[in-house]
Amino acid sequence: MEQFTTIWGARHWASLFLQEHGCEKGVADILLMHLLSMSQSQLLAAMQDDFPQDIQETFMEGIYQHVDKGTPVQHLIGYEYFYGRKFAVNPHVLIPRPETEELVELVLREIKAGFSKDDEILVVDIGTGSGIIGITLKKELPALHVKAVDISKDALQTAKQNAQDLNADVEFVEGDFLSPLVESGQRVDVIVSNPPYISPEDETSLDDVVRKHDPKLALFAEDEGLAAYKKIVSQLPEVMNRPALVAFEIGHQQGVAVQEIIKHKFPKAEPKVMQDINQKDRIVY
Ligand code: GLN
Repeated sequence: MEQFTTIWGARHWASLFLQEHGCEKGVADILLMHLLSMSQSQLLAAMQDDFPQDIQETFMEGIYQHVDKGTPVQHLIGYEYFYGRKFAVNPHVLIPRPETEELVELVLREIKAGFSKDDEILVVDIGTGSGIIGITLKKELPALHVKAVDISKDALQTAKQNAQDLNADVEFVEGDFLSPLVESGQRVDVIVSNPPYISPEDETSLDDVVRKHDPKLALFAEDEGLAAYKKIVSQLPEVMNRPALVAFEIGHQQGVAVQEIIKHKFPKAEPKVMQDINQKDRIVY
């Protein structure tokens, strides 16, 4: 077996090995930061320090597992950061994406602009997964009432744990899209969702790490990936307060289609499309 003397040595081995196999070499740093409990700058400053022998095996196994099975580094370490907070993740939930931070940003902005400070605002996060959207909104604007819905029990368990760890008072509800709210007759002011939006036919075009390790329930939707939007929009009239905000994350080629779905149901609505930092259509609201 390799024997690393310095942290640099371990990182050097891993970077070469990852790159040789077409993987991101950044995985090595994320794993090292986790195993050494260091920030990025601490890690960079510690390159010539001794590599602790007791983490060598775990480190190498993690790198091998990433290369051999495509296990995402977030599953190796058990968490991902979202909007500056640490969220536990596992194969039952979608790994948080930076694009979704832009959805949260937009919702925060629209709430601040569109509602007054004393309004009682009920927000629903549909398909909450690890809970990132609902929990982050509650942490950023504690006066909001937040409900988070998911059909997956395992996802809800993860989300609840995250809410507890982050001390966020979010109510979690098991159910299919807006159905639990339709049933309870509750009215909602803000609806936000990052639903599954990939067409099952496009499965082969996905990156292996995504295809094999993110839950299918979180990724795929029928009707060219539009089924979830259609379902949610069809339920809106039964739960929506007016004025209300609806914000969806979308696939980059779905802007027009999702606008049409909304306009079909609400002819007077003027849904807007917003692009992400990579200039791709990413949000309809
Ligand atoms: N709401 C979660 C997220 O944005 C889960 C989304 C999903 O599973 N499609 O990461």
